[in-house]
Amino acid sequence: MIPGIHVSTAGGIHKAPLKLKELGLTTGQIFTANQRRWKNHEFSPEGIAKFREASQGLIIVSHASYLINFASANPEVVEKSHIALVEELERCAALGIPYLVMHPGAHQKAGLENGIEMIASSLKQLLPTVKDGPMLLLENTAGAGTTIGCKLEELSAIRQSSEVSQLVGYCIDTAHAHGAGYRISEVKDVSTFIDDLGDILGYDNIRAFHLNDSKVECDSRRDRHEHFGIGKIGLDGLRYLFQDSVFAGTPGIAETPGTDDERAEDIGKLL
Ligand SMILES: [Zn+2]
Repeated sequence: MIPGIHVSTAGGIHKAPLKLKELGLTTGQIFTANQRRWKNHEFSPEGIAKFREASQGLIIVSHASYLINFASANPEVVEKSHIALVEELERCAALGIPYLVMHPGAHQKAGLENGIEMIASSLKQLLPTVKDGPMLLLENTAGAGTTIGCKLEELSAIRQSSEVSQLVGYCIDTAHAHGAGYRISEVKDVSTFIDDLGDILGYDNIRAFHLNDSKVECDSRRDRHEHFGIGKIGLDGLRYLFQDSVFAGTPGIAETPGTDDERAEDIGKLL
């Protein structure tokens, strides 16, 4: 993988790519807005120009709001989610960001299959509306409550049903996979997981990884990020996945706790 980190946008969005360059990294992830709020400001043309210039030569991934849920039982949430996703896509288009990561959502009362259909039909409706928009990357989840996407097959089903599969890829989070019951601590198990990624999702469709160790047990259905090497996944599994040649050109982004510098230290442990 290409080493990268989730990087802060404090002080202006263009500060994030500058920080990546300062750390010697060529890829990273940002939030283009407050991820826990529906309403967000727009960027000025100057801010956009500064970001585009600073991010030359980098692969930037954006992470969408945690509030978006097309499978919600509440029609108001679905409506707000539609508006929020289009805004996310438009911000990426303006900033020249090629990938937008999104958690699939939670089906609440609708049931898993209905939830998958609700997400797929929203993507079908919304993704083609933004010109020069990013590819949407569905992220696997740990499977808490009724969240969708803890099984790779669920991510694949959303992409297939969306009928806009050329606009949809995947982002694989190691802490979420571990929480969902995929064994990735030992090398022999990681190679099985890598085979599953290829068989179920297709290697070419996996455009980013979120790299995290985990504070909680495998199959706990929980998601608690930890620094590499001191969690329940451990360095061996993370390093094997990171170094597999199949993903040589894929961003591998540390999302561990703490500061940008701490995340850069974490990613250094996998090189
Ligand atoms: Zn993640």
